[in-house]
Amino acid sequence: MRTIDDLDVAGRRVLVRSDLNVPLRDGRITDDGRIRASLPTIEALRARGAKVIVCAHLGRPKGEVKPEFSLAPVAARLGELLGTGVTAAADVVGDSARAAVDGLADGGVALLENLRFEPGETAKDDAGRGAFADRLAALADLYVGDGFGAVHRRHASVYDVPRRLPHAAGGLIAAEVAVLRRLTEEVERPYAVVLGGSKVSDKLGVIDNLLGKADRILIGGGMVFTFLKAQGHEVGKSLLEEDQLDTVRAYLRRAEESGVEFVLPVDVVAATAFAADAEHDVVAADAIPADRLGLDIGPESGKLFAARLADARTVFWNGPMGVFEMEPYANGTRAVAQGLIDSGAFTVVGGGDSAAAVRGLGFDESSFSHISTGGGASLEYLEGRTLPGLQALED
Ligand code: ADP
Ligand code: MG
Repeated sequence: MRTIDDLDVAGRRVLVRSDLNVPLRDGRITDDGRIRASLPTIEALRARGAKVIVCAHLGRPKGEVKPEFSLAPVAARLGELLGTGVTAAADVVGDSARAAVDGLADGGVALLENLRFEPGETAKDDAGRGAFADRLAALADLYVGDGFGAVHRRHASVYDVPRRLPHAAGGLIAAEVAVLRRLTEEVERPYAVVLGGSKVSDKLGVIDNLLGKADRILIGGGMVFTFLKAQGHEVGKSLLEEDQLDTVRAYLRRAEESGVEFVLPVDVVAATAFAADAEHDVVAADAIPADRLGLDIGPESGKLFAARLADARTVFWNGPMGVFEMEPYANGTRAVAQGLIDSGAFTVVGGGDSAAAVRGLGFDESSFSHISTGGGASLEYLEGRTLPGLQALED
């Protein structure tokens, strides 16, 4: 994969696909982590005299212009962090975008409007995407792919534009790929993987591939209950994916055959409702009352998980252990975060909510070897799938 060092960018128009998909509340950015992660590549290009045209998506406006998904607040924050004015175009590839690009001096930065305002960005058919990709590519001389959080999407700005312009990977994608190699090809053992969160069926796929790679798989979060149920325990009103029970049973069987250790919680914080002020107690994982739902792993499980991480040399963690947004259910996530730090292993945290949890619970980001900006993208890479955005940069 070529990097930006291989491109001659001085005085040229460089289209940078970044991941600026930040959480917003009432039009304000609540966590600017992804904007910060995008800075080094933009700064490096500016320093070398490029005219930098940044493009990105925000949320899911589904091909329509919806003001609440405007990137304008992101342009303002990007400008603050860069310490320079960022021209915010009012459209993606229209008159405003062209004027913004024409007005760029060497080292200047413009941000196009939300890519997903254009139906062509996410179109399933190659022709629909291609027509939009032509217009986007026409704004620039060179392309830099740096939006790691979107590389698993076959979208115009990720997949089709790099096939139309000389291209390279930005620093963020290069760094993410180097880390992912250490989780797949050059793994130091023991290798432990911790999975949690709420998107159960999304995350089961990765287990399939990890069964051949990881030494230990620790399960927490909402996924736990499908595992406990598969083992024959009742899980009350907890999150459960009935249609995945057979798949999970097969994983447990394969793990036993191949000597991979599955670590499941031994206790659970069970609440009467999905609320911070609901009555809640620690119960054994095999004795969840019928009228309760599990919202966190319990304290014994926290200790068990930390112990199974202590001697690991490599740890990948995706998905909070409980509903960490509510303080009574944050301790499991806290224990696992601390377990990663104390292990001294090569530690990687992936997933938007996991990264937000680490920051929100007051951990120092630098205590982890790497905090990935792309949850879905890292998981698909670990599943062994080909990621369109990486493939396009390699060609
Ligand atoms: P990530 O973004 O890190 O990949 P997910 O999006 O899969 O993680 O899941 C994050 C969400 O999972 C959090 O909002 C958290 O509240 C929720 N969650 C964790 N444990 C449970 C549980 N036991 N029941 C319901 N939701 C849970
Ligand atoms: Mg999430």
